[in-house]
Amino acid sequence: MALKRKSKQFKWRRKHLLGLRELSAEEITYILDTAKGFEQISTRSVKKAPPLRGRVVVNLFFEDSTRTRNSFALAANRLSADVIEFTKKASSVSKGETLLDTAKNMEAMGIDIVVVRHGAGGAPRFLSRSINACVVNAGDGFCEHPTQALLDAYTIRKIKGTLEGLKIAIVGDITHSRVARSDMWAMTKLGAEVIFVGPPTLMPSQVERLPVSVSYSLDEVIEKVDVINMLRIQFERLGGNPFPSVREYSHYFGLTVERMKKAKPDILVMHPGPINRGLEVESEVADGSNSVILEQVKNGLAVRMAVLFLVNQAAAQKD
Ligand code: ASP
Repeated sequence: MALKRKSKQFKWRRKHLLGLRELSAEEITYILDTAKGFEQISTRSVKKAPPLRGRVVVNLFFEDSTRTRNSFALAANRLSADVIEFTKKASSVSKGETLLDTAKNMEAMGIDIVVVRHGAGGAPRFLSRSINACVVNAGDGFCEHPTQALLDAYTIRKIKGTLEGLKIAIVGDITHSRVARSDMWAMTKLGAEVIFVGPPTLMPSQVERLPVSVSYSLDEVIEKVDVINMLRIQFERLGGNPFPSVREYSHYFGLTVERMKKAKPDILVMHPGPINRGLEVESEVADGSNSVILEQVKNGLAVRMAVLFLVNQAAAQKD
């Protein structure tokens, strides 16, 4: 309650959204509150508002994406911005052009906001120091995926009313997951208790220094938690064999119909997508009544509208 009152007087000052580690609970709450205001635009027959009219947003994606890229594009369109789509495969990056040269060339065309996804951790921060445009991190290496965590927090808050006091399990390939890291920051800052669950081989080194508890047994955790976020195994980032077989992984860490029988009846089942059906989640669970996976995608639009709106507003105030 106190947080809500404070959030009303709060002034957003960041022209970049690089990660949630550096954000306060107040800033996170402010983004979620702003997103709430944008949610109803998507329910109108004319799904547009003017705040970014005349602004140019570039989607600079060096890694594949379905949800995040389209969600940012749609969010920018709904705020009346012009949107440029950049993908690594269809650009001069395939001819050897660097990230900085690409961004500087984009900037020369008069862009205002760069939404960047890159395989290297820290790429968005590097860009923010090198160009004048606003930079929004759409996923950098294993580091952060702030808008995913914001939409996760938004979804939980919308259904449960608050994150304060909730127990949230984040399950699976924690080591390679930028979603796990951003979720951890958002959720703990908003008062939830986060438990990382997975095999020891998929736990980050020095996990004990993070504000989470750790469990190697999903069966021990499932009955205690209010929310369970199932991560995708990041096959593209795995080196070596972190578990003997996919079947064995599924047996111990998959969210199955059987395992769900032990969960609280109102548990929220989340997944950032893309889902490996039958590996981390059984289809019946992914499509079942506790699943909020498509609600997450829906809320992502309002959250990304809020982020684009806020960074643009902060930049305009600094000009
Ligand atoms: N879409 C999320 C990400 O880009 C999760 C995933 O790929 O597993 O990190």
